[in-house]
Amino acid sequence: MSDNPYLAKKNSAKAYIGRFAPSPTGPLHFGSLIAATASYLCARQKQGQWLLRIEDVDIPRTQKGATQAIIQALEEYGFEWSGNIRYQSEQCQDYQDALDQLQAFTYPCSCTRKSLQARAATGTFSYIYPGYCRNGLSQPQASQTSMRLRSDINSCLNKADFIELCQATPYSQHIEKEVGDFILKRSDGLFSYQLAVVVDDHLQGVTDIVRGADLFNNTPRQNYLQCLLGYSQPRYLHFPVAVYDNGKKLSKQNASAPISLQKKRSTLLLALQFLGQAPPRLDNFSSIDDIWQWAVQNWDIDLIPKRLTQTIHDYEN
Ligand code: GLU
Repeated sequence: MSDNPYLAKKNSAKAYIGRFAPSPTGPLHFGSLIAATASYLCARQKQGQWLLRIEDVDIPRTQKGATQAIIQALEEYGFEWSGNIRYQSEQCQDYQDALDQLQAFTYPCSCTRKSLQARAATGTFSYIYPGYCRNGLSQPQASQTSMRLRSDINSCLNKADFIELCQATPYSQHIEKEVGDFILKRSDGLFSYQLAVVVDDHLQGVTDIVRGADLFNNTPRQNYLQCLLGYSQPRYLHFPVAVYDNGKKLSKQNASAPISLQKKRSTLLLALQFLGQAPPRLDNFSSIDDIWQWAVQNWDIDLIPKRLTQTIHDYEN
């Protein structure tokens, strides 16, 4: 063992584990290729692992065949992930265990979206839930209840600040005032994205989360949960989310076209350009592997534009 404290510290630093976590609500579109590319290159450059997780926790929103289409597109583009793919739909016990662990801070809630529309103030993410059912169900006869997490546990509210590696301005959110008590398990019995993602990232040992800035304002809630559950907090990099000229984000909901499996090299180069990198022209690369080799060697997160959204001019639709 070296007694050089710098080396000792270096050796004890956790090895990089990144991930790509698409929801199979449709095939891979250009926006999700950007997310895959950014997270993959961060992990490859750090000689870390890159995990693939299919976020199919919201079963009604998953589209038949989308998971296979996503995996096939990733394979054709030359992405290589470590270990087995984790499917959220198979991890309910893990989510239930975490929910049980949070028992002191959660409560059942009978409020429906409709009743809240009439009653609650609206914030950035629909209504702000001020805790109507904290001291007992507001509709005691309700047949279905959700589980909510109190947003006033002060010891963890101040831990909801995160290290952001890409955005120019620090982001801060007052969870209690801006979001309120949020749902961990829905009234239809499904676990929420917030809970599932935090549990998965923890159980998979993820050290670095690289994802689009459309998820930026979810991060404080996830940090709050990490603190309440006693998990360590990963580092975050939120790159600008791809939007059309009309400001709408590329998404399955906006019917964005699947990425081309015919023009892979030019599409990957466009993804790299979107991320601020300056790859040589297409005719310098004879294969997708050549592009990956260039990209791993030259990947520079400081070149990623530090903004929340960025327009797509050169690609599709
Ligand atoms: N499943 C989410 C999506 O497809 C990504 C979640 C995350 O990266 O935390 O938008």
